Amino acid sequence: MKTLVWVEHEGGQLKDATLSAVTAASKLGEVHLLVAGQGVGAVAEAAAKIAGVAKVHVADDGAYAHGLAENVAPLVAELMGHHDAFLAPATTTGKNIAPRVAALLDVMQISDILSVEDADTFTRPIYAGNAIATVKSSDAKKVLTVRGTAFDKAAEGGSAAIEAIASTGDKGLSSFIGAEIAASERPELTSAKIIVSGGRALGSAEQFHAIIDPLADKLGAGVGASRAAVDAGYAPNDYQVGQTGKIVAPEVYVAIGISGAIQHLAGMKDSKTIVAINKDEDAPIFQVADIGLVGDLFKIVPELTEKL
Ligand code: FAD
Repeated sequence: MKTLVWVEHEGGQLKDATLSAVTAASKLGEVHLLVAGQGVGAVAEAAAKIAGVAKVHVADDGAYAHGLAENVAPLVAELMGHHDAFLAPATTTGKNIAPRVAALLDVMQISDILSVEDADTFTRPIYAGNAIATVKSSDAKKVLTVRGTAFDKAAEGGSAAIEAIASTGDKGLSSFIGAEIAASERPELTSAKIIVSGGRALGSAEQFHAIIDPLADKLGAGVGASRAAVDAGYAPNDYQVGQTGKIVAPEVYVAIGISGAIQHLAGMKDSKTIVAINKDEDAPIFQVADIGLVGDLFKIVPELTEKL
């Protein structure tokens, strides 16, 4: 069985989420990668060094410069003539491309897989992660998105062949207007080893940054937020952790002034150690916390930051 993994990259760097998708693909068969973009030689070189990869297909063309799913999906669909399964990380862009590929191939997509049981059978979360479904597909070609936290990241150590492939061109269905990208020195949420997250209790954007940022800086942590904090404008959208935000599983997750709603837990409950700071001792977050501090965050967090 041959698998094709879409390589997510940005600014000439391969994104970590790809590595988990490679591990998932290696459980199905021979792993081929697709690097689509413009000026992506360095990404292709990095991709070829991933352990267990047999071949890297490179489509270097302006049509793929901004990763528009409307252009990438037909390219994948064409390559699927020679592959049995397509895997993309379940990231925002991966989730944009994979359903289009499934539609073009006229097969069902299986989303957010947690494990590969056999060539046709996968597990995936349902009901915001409260139940795990085992799904068997009878489609000849599989289209899967992969939950990054459920698979180890593939290591370095490969020396795959790199092969240039022809572009399928600009389909003219969408065009790139611009991107507003929040520049941050902090680790990206999905790959951060420590995350400090703030909730509605922070009360304002100023207080969010005044309380959360210094602790995150001391710990070298990424910063996350609950949806309530994002909706209130205390933190940007890409900080959101949860069912409709990012799924994270760092070594340490510090939830500050976050109640622990089921939709928030869906995004962070697989973290290795969960620390919760909340003034309500009955807050649901304490049911999943390994370490809990009951008290006023505006007193506890600055004290903690100072002592670190
Ligand atoms: P609250 O629930 O208001 O909790 C604030 C907490 O702060 C309380 O526990 C309170 O005791 C504590 N507190 C208050 N003051 C202090 C203080 N001074 N010191 C210490 N503690 C204090 N939510 C997400 O986070 N991510 C998602 O992806 C997400 N997706 C959703 C999808 C759907 C379809 C729906 C319906 C909801 C979703 N939500 C999501 C929203 C979720 O249901 C909750 O509303 C949200 O998580 C609550 O955020 P919060 O814990 O910051 O706020």
